[in-house]
Amino acid sequence: MGTTTYAIALGANRPTRHGRPAAAIALALDRIGGVVAASSTIETPPLGPSIRRFANAAALIESDEPPPVLLARLKRIERALGRRPGRRWGARPIDLDIVLWSGGRHATRALTIPHREWHRRRFVLAPLAEIAPGWRDPDSGRTVRQLLTEVDRRRPRT
Ligand code: ADP
Ligand code: MG
Repeated sequence: MGTTTYAIALGANRPTRHGRPAAAIALALDRIGGVVAASSTIETPPLGPSIRRFANAAALIESDEPPPVLLARLKRIERALGRRPGRRWGARPIDLDIVLWSGGRHATRALTIPHREWHRRRFVLAPLAEIAPGWRDPDSGRTVRQLLTEVDRRRPRT
């Protein structure tokens, strides 16, 4: 087992040769490995100009890799599942983001943990609350459960 715990957010909004978005998420989890907890996969309305629905999930993984090494591996998995560089909000077969890690904060130009947007995104918070409700955001000191409640209070219908 690895020495470091990571919370990973998985998203997909385009079918691949592996099937619908939820299948890409399952396959990505399998490739990432070291999974100690996985949420259910939820469908959320699209954000931005895409008309597609997103499938989203979260997982806790254990790994010996430092953050940049894990990110590089996640990007290789994204490419292997058909991700190509392109529009940020466009159709994508898979998106793998590092949300939190047991090391607290990590901030370089290429990689920021906690992920910059995670605490505003219900599609990240809701799956993560299934598997790590008590994990505290090192920036705000709030738990995942509290952050989800706050997002729902601000935007009760999304
Ligand atoms: P997004 O996930 O924000 O929709 P991308 O997947 O295209 O967009 O990621 C853009 C870049 O964000 C990545 O190439 C990566 O270097 C950077 N990045 C910064 N912090 C993180 C993080 N915590 N997890 C994943 N990528 C990150
Ligand atoms: Mg990403």
